[in-house]
Amino acid sequence: MTGQRKVSESGTKLRYRMMELAASMDDVIPLGRGDPDLDTPAHIVQAAKDAIRRGAAQELPPPEGLLELRQAIAAKLLRDNEIDVDPHSEVLVATGGQEALFLIVQALVNPGDEILMPDPRYTSYDGAIQLAGGRVVSVPTYEEDDFDLRPEEVEARITPRSKVLLLITPSNPTSGVISPANLRRLAEIAIERDLIVISDEIYEHYVYDDAQHLSIASLPGMAGRTVTLNGVSKAYAMTGWRVGYVAGPAPAIAAMRRLKLAASRATSAVSQWAAHAALAGPQECIAEFYRIYDERRRVMMAGLDRMGFVYGRPRGAFYIFPRALSIGLEAEELCDLLLREGRVLIFPGTTFGESGSQYLRISFLAPKEQLQEALKRMQRTLAQHI
Ligand code: PLP
Repeated sequence: MTGQRKVSESGTKLRYRMMELAASMDDVIPLGRGDPDLDTPAHIVQAAKDAIRRGAAQELPPPEGLLELRQAIAAKLLRDNEIDVDPHSEVLVATGGQEALFLIVQALVNPGDEILMPDPRYTSYDGAIQLAGGRVVSVPTYEEDDFDLRPEEVEARITPRSKVLLLITPSNPTSGVISPANLRRLAEIAIERDLIVISDEIYEHYVYDDAQHLSIASLPGMAGRTVTLNGVSKAYAMTGWRVGYVAGPAPAIAAMRRLKLAASRATSAVSQWAAHAALAGPQECIAEFYRIYDERRRVMMAGLDRMGFVYGRPRGAFYIFPRALSIGLEAEELCDLLLREGRVLIFPGTTFGESGSQYLRISFLAPKEQLQEALKRMQRTLAQHI
């Protein structure tokens, strides 16, 4: 077809090719995908069942989402993030963080606009930006900083065409967390240089050691120029329920609402009631999940240390991002070897942007015992080749 806009799919294609190969093999331990392996808490599942009984599966909610859920989102943002939004005009519910990020980009980015984004990063943004005709400007982040984002690296890349600064904190795939001091400086830069900020905070609850999560929209002068993305997939182990949300200035939300209406009409009311239970209900599950992820993180770090991997300390989310060459192999070659011979599925960082090619992204989304077995397999495989 002529005139069709193309989206780069190399990263995604590689990931799918590896997943296909893994599916054709026996007994592979999957440490590739980023979807929590834990069960959605029972009270959330129950809320969905109750909603179905009340007829929610027959309902077509408004495109912006159920008012009750938008109110729960506004209350959560005030409680956890010190972000004060009007649930009537400044919140939009989307079908997962994935749809949320797509709607945000289509609403904010015009052809020729430059978007400053950390590298490595979650590359779904790249595809959305390409479709909108925007230009990705990569800002490097460094292992020696545990992949924090240096404000001066952002500043050095600002041009008259710069429109948006994308922040993903904690980060997928690097597990970097932007420090409060850097975040404050980034806010000043956004104000000085008149940038819109997209702040993806989908991993906010999983922040380790002395790292701290701060929401940039809560800083002085930032509410009017920040769009915050979040969702329930990572926080409450709810990937398949497909609920994400956006909070930001009313005109931007209105533009996203129009796009949402055209694209999918609405997000499932059953899922929205489940998300409502997640955000408005008891929060103990988060503390329990946190304990599990942090324990797994320590198991993985100890195992990788034994093998001699070098990596930035994972400060958030549920990934470790070790440097492949630190044990003498290229990332794609190493992942291929670990899958074919070790039966452990890990993605090369190539799938997460330009500088990712030297790294592996290991997700610790499997029970501790399986992680220990995966580490043993990795060690055995490497012993035969290095
Ligand atoms: N943002 C980031 C940084 C992610 O890593 C993901 C998923 O991996 C998403 C957004 C989308 O999440 P979901 O569509 O499951 O809500």
